[in-house]
Amino acid sequence: MDAATVMERCSVLGGVSEEPGILVRPYGSSSMHEVNGIVSGWMRDAGMSVRTDAIGNLIGRYEGTGNGTFVLGSHLDTVRDAGKYDGPLGVLAALACIERLRDRGERLPFAVEVVAFADEEGLRFGTTYLGSSHYAGALEKRLLELQDRDGVTLAEAVRAFGGDPESLSGTRSAPEDIVGYCEVHIEQGPVLEERNFPVGFVSAITGLSRLRASFSGRAGHAGTVPMEGRKDALCAAAEFVLEAEAAAKSEPGSVATVGEMSVRPGARNVIPGQVEISVDVRHGDDAIRERLRDHLESKAAKISTSRGCEHRWEADQESVAVSTDPELCALLARAIEDASMEALRLPSGAGHDAAQMAEVCPVAMLFVRCKEGISHNPGESVEEEDVAVTIDVMGRFLGRVAEGRGR
Ligand SMILES: [Zn+2]
Repeated sequence: MDAATVMERCSVLGGVSEEPGILVRPYGSSSMHEVNGIVSGWMRDAGMSVRTDAIGNLIGRYEGTGNGTFVLGSHLDTVRDAGKYDGPLGVLAALACIERLRDRGERLPFAVEVVAFADEEGLRFGTTYLGSSHYAGALEKRLLELQDRDGVTLAEAVRAFGGDPESLSGTRSAPEDIVGYCEVHIEQGPVLEERNFPVGFVSAITGLSRLRASFSGRAGHAGTVPMEGRKDALCAAAEFVLEAEAAAKSEPGSVATVGEMSVRPGARNVIPGQVEISVDVRHGDDAIRERLRDHLESKAAKISTSRGCEHRWEADQESVAVSTDPELCALLARAIEDASMEALRLPSGAGHDAAQMAEVCPVAMLFVRCKEGISHNPGESVEEEDVAVTIDVMGRFLGRVAEGRGR
């Protein structure tokens, strides 16, 4: 019954977008405002008190009988042309657990906060975990100067979203007495489906480097400037993209992706004079990721020089690999076994809010099977039966945590 509700609610939120026809919900947008309003209504109905913090994270709190706060959550922002489960499923499955407690009139020996983070994907400002980094008190002040495509700074966007940029850095909106965090998320990979498991628990979250490279050459007429002596910035960028692919392929376990490219002046009869690209590099081992990142930086320099171009290389973000907490993982594994399943352990190649939360408390994650491992795409698909298993396991997990805290 509550799994059906979660599926329905994912569809409701999936229909709230900045653009008709596709799902795109960036930080600070009116669609984010709208989903926060909808979810806060559900939170209140579940018997939670609701607050919004200085960056716009929506936080529902279900009081317990003793001290300590256990945090559940995920994010409500999306990538462009997103699916409806990446993020919202974690928030809504957590909410379903609270509704079960409410229906039974049950209080745990600790409070539970369900947090809907306002920005995880980094679509608007190119940096991930903005929401959870503020909740955890780790937001860096320099990030407030980041600009979106329209030149709006993060500080301005926070203010427009009803938040308070001045109070963002150096403070945290999480309570002081956090005892742990557990996030439900679609796997975004093929392992659970291939092994035929509805859920699995996460051993570690991969580290990530987000970079920005720009190549500056010389624009000119596509018809009159001979091929010899051209300084084509797009040719330099293209050579770099293939180099990044080859370098990641030669380093097992690593991935490197150029997902954004802007070409200027951007006309069919003009040689590209300026190209800016994003570079995303990941590996479970931080040392290998850093080596690959440095290798790509030197390659960008070499390619630029050989083509008479200039280049700039900037690090937007570095996230180290994060291990989940062995004790919480053991409880989560027990909860999975209590539900008569084998507890499968798997790594996360994608970053998650849990990585940021690990700064302030022990963390665990439960992955849910998704069709063909597809995510960041409208083809994202989750089975209702798997959601039912998820809610069941999370309920048992909270019970295990409660037992461990002396209920
Ligand atoms: Zn996500």
